[in-house]
Parts: sequence; C-alpha cells; structure tokens
Amino acid sequence: MLLSIKVELKPNNKQVTQFRKACGVARHAYNWANALIKDVLVERETDKTVKVPSAIDLHKKLVAEVKSVNNWYYETNKNVPQQAVKELRTAWDRYWKKVAKQPRFKKKGCRDSFYLEAGSKASPKIKNDGKRIKLPSIGWVRLAEPLPSSATHNCVISRTADKWFIAIKYELEKPSIKADRPSVGVDIGIKELAVCSNGTVFKNPKAYRKMSKRMKHLQRSVSKKQKGSCNRKKAVSKLAKLHARIANIRKDAIHKLTTYLAKNHSIVKIEDLSIKAFLKNHKLAGAIADCGMYEFKRQLEYKTEKFSSKLVLVDRMFPSSQICSNCGNHRHKMPLKERVYICPDCGHAEDRDLNASKNIERWFEGIFPYDSTYVKR
Ligand SMILES: [Zn+2]
Repeated sequence: MLLSIKVELKPNNKQVTQFRKACGVARHAYNWANALIKDVLVERETDKTVKVPSAIDLHKKLVAEVKSVNNWYYETNKNVPQQAVKELRTAWDRYWKKVAKQPRFKKKGCRDSFYLEAGSKASPKIKNDGKRIKLPSIGWVRLAEPLPSSATHNCVISRTADKWFIAIKYELEKPSIKADRPSVGVDIGIKELAVCSNGTVFKNPKAYRKMSKRMKHLQRSVSKKQKGSCNRKKAVSKLAKLHARIANIRKDAIHKLTTYLAKNHSIVKIEDLSIKAFLKNHKLAGAIADCGMYEFKRQLEYKTEKFSSKLVLVDRMFPSSQICSNCGNHRHKMPLKERVYICPDCGHAEDRDLNASKNIERWFEGIFPYDSTYVKR
C-alpha cells in the first residue's frame, strides 16, 4: 500500500535560501493567479461571455506575462509556480462546489511550501539513499531521520516554525498481524484522550495543559510588541515554535492511540462526530480538540488499512452516553458534569466514558442490539 510520510529535512544554509526562494515563487504565482481570477469574476458580472481560466490557461499566461518580466522565477524549478497555480485553481473549484472557503491571498512566512516533481509514476526520479534525498534543481539534502531507500515522483516541501519538512509517498509492505483480534469501541473522552471498551484508558498528554498556559503568555507578549519591530519578530518566532511543539505532542499522543487500536483489533468503532458538533457538545480542552478529531480519523483510516482491520463509524445520532451498557434497557440524559453512569433499572454503575465506549462497541449498522427504537429518526 502507498503510504504518505512527512519527515524533517536538515538543509544547509544555501539550501535554506533555495527553499525560501521557491516558497516565494510559489506564493507569488498563487497570489497573482488569485488576483486574476478575482478580476475575471468581476468582469463576468457584466459580461457572461468572459471565461474563467483553467489551470492550463493560467499557467500559459503566467509564463507569457509574469515569468518574462520576473527573472527570479528562473532561479527555481519550473514545477514550483506551475503547481501553485494549479492548486489555486483547485481551491476555487472547491469554493464553487461549496466545500471550502474562498481562497485567500498567501502571506509571507505563513504556510510556506512548494512542490517538486521528477520522472513519472512509473519511473520516479526523486531518490533517497536512506539518509539523504535528491531534489530536482537543489540536489542532495540531508534527512533528519532515516527512511527506507526508495524513489518517488513528487514531493512537497514545507516549513513549520524554523524547521523544514518533506512529504513523500512510499510503498509499504503490510505487516503481519495477530489472528483472532477482538473488536473495540472508543469513546473520545472529555477528561481523558480516549476510553476503550476493554477498559484501556489513554490519558491526555500532560505537557499539554502547561503549554497552553505558556501559549497564552506568548500570545500576549506578541500583541504587546510594536508592529514591525525586531522584538515582535522574535516573539512571533517563539510563538510559532511553541505552536509546532504542541501540535507534535498532540500528534504523538493520537499516533500512539491509533496504532494501538488498529494493530490489536479486527474492528475499531468510533463515533462519527463532525468537528463542529463535537466541539459544541463536548467543550473539549484536550488533545483531540481543534483539528485533532480530523487527524484522529485520518490516522485510523490509513492504519486500519495497514493492519487489515476495519474502521466502523457509528451513527452520530446514536446516544452512546445515555444507554446502560449492562442491561441496555434504560436511557436517560447525562449532563456533562456527571462522571458516573448509574442505571435506575439494574443498579449498574460505571465510569461515563467507559459505559459509552461499551455501547459503541456493541453498535452495529442500523440496529442497536437491545432496542431498535433508539435509531428511529
Ligand atoms: Zn441498566
């Protein structure tokens, strides 16, 4: 199976300069194309015969009108602006399909990245020898961690805080798996990161809360500094580093959880919560808040494929926290502050999240084993 991986690069100073230049070209091309499309849209308000340019139209225009007068474009690989323009056009398509917001102009230093390619899918030319990777127009760049030596035909290089990363796809052999794995239900916790139906609890990373405090402190420190000053730049860079560290801690915790789930179980059941509904209902402060839910699902998707297990999304209308996991007959509202589920019917008492995870584990499509009226809508 093809797996996507992102690893840190250790570029030398000359390479960092080349990376920055490439990011600049990508940003310039993206913003130029964005402005052009916006102009076209204004024209179309009065004249519907004006055509919205395709990605190819945009690239042709870029070569003819922009590259010819901006010589610095030629200092980077030709794929860099071409891909940036293509991405911009896709972003507009996504906006027109109402799946994303209108593409905005890119700011310098914000989400810096660029794309490179060499060869084709059948004969990939971006090679690595395990310790270094050979990039078109740039040459051999050191990798921060060893990779299985392979080749790929495209990659994306990006910057987070003061570090550079490369994202590539590589072929992975499926690992051997244990026979007779049980199924598991997972409740994404309020207090904990996650509670599994077998009683395993994954705690929220400890460093998280402490860092959140420091984050507030740094945010304040940035806003106090004068705009455009050197001190503000320093404070912004500190804040960016902390952001990256927190994101890493969160990702690491989610990775441990998702590997445990996918590797040791034949079926993994999670609630299919939309991020919006999730934040509204749970008021989370833990690691799965923010974009964590998306990341959690994304990791589970590819890891269940990797370990040949099945991911089941439990209907979001299913009242997992309201049902008694012992007798299944009772159902009552559980305000968030109630940490223990107590069943007035059978007297069963259990931690709220564990009770919910057991119900999730027992759920199967369309029907709840105890009482089918619960799923009627
Ligand atoms: Zn009960």
